[in-house]
Amino acid sequence: MKSVLITGANKSIGFETARQLLQKGYFVYLGARDLAKGSEAANKLKAEGLNNVEAIQIDVTNNTSIQDARKQLDSLDILVNNAGIAGGMPQTAADTKTDTIREVFDTNFFGVIDVTNAFIDLLKKSDEPRIVNVTSGLGSLTLHSDPSWKYYKVKSAAYGPSKSALNAYTIVLAYELRDTAFKVNAVDPGYTATDFNHHSGPGTIEDAAARIVKYAMIGQDGPTGGFFSDDNNPETGVSPW
Ligand code: NAP
Repeated sequence: MKSVLITGANKSIGFETARQLLQKGYFVYLGARDLAKGSEAANKLKAEGLNNVEAIQIDVTNNTSIQDARKQLDSLDILVNNAGIAGGMPQTAADTKTDTIREVFDTNFFGVIDVTNAFIDLLKKSDEPRIVNVTSGLGSLTLHSDPSWKYYKVKSAAYGPSKSALNAYTIVLAYELRDTAFKVNAVDPGYTATDFNHHSGPGTIEDAAARIVKYAMIGQDGPTGGFFSDDNNPETGVSPW
């Protein structure tokens, strides 16, 4: 049975991604920075008959926590770097403190790198390793430069740049792994109603998770080093960087 680790999976998009991958027959390591919340989430899934799930404590900003999580796994096929924070809005360029920007980058950018580096040895042993970095349309520099884009005015000095940096890292990682079986992609789940945005988003967690699941399960003939978002081109799902 193939296994997947999802960070920030105790609720919202990460939790629904866990549910959908369980339904597709994967073993899910349900990552949560608070193990009690993770266990509660895992029990909820087990109550639905989805038993191949184990809660695992992992705070992506804490290297000891990441290493402890790593020690609990013997194999891994898919890593979904989902944990993310907004950092509070508004985030004007003029007024946002660099402490806030660092805090957001610690989770959304450096956290992804630390987790990826910790688990890459296990992923390399998989026949079909996959990494999905959960990004945002707000990380697209091209869209942010287009006044006709529907979210053009949604500018943020910490969150958007953290996802732009994550996108850049995704390109580099995918390039380095281009001659291997890895598929490494950045996926925007779309503006989704969750705690993240006080449930203001129009999208559902089911649709958001389905986008992530698609690239978590992408076949050997699938893309790598891409940025995907159904929001901008529903036909191809390709987003401009
Ligand atoms: P959410 O409801 O706020 O859930 C975020 C999850 O990440 C929670 O499980 C949270 O844990 C966890 N988390 C935060 N910091 C963490 C850390 N240091 N270590 C481990 N886990 C941590 O957010 P969401 O809407 O599901 O967002 C999930 C991902 O989608 C994020 O990367 C976000 O940037 C991205 N995204 C969301 C939207 C949207 O409209 N919702 C749009 C585009 C992209 P706690 O429960 O302990 O806080």
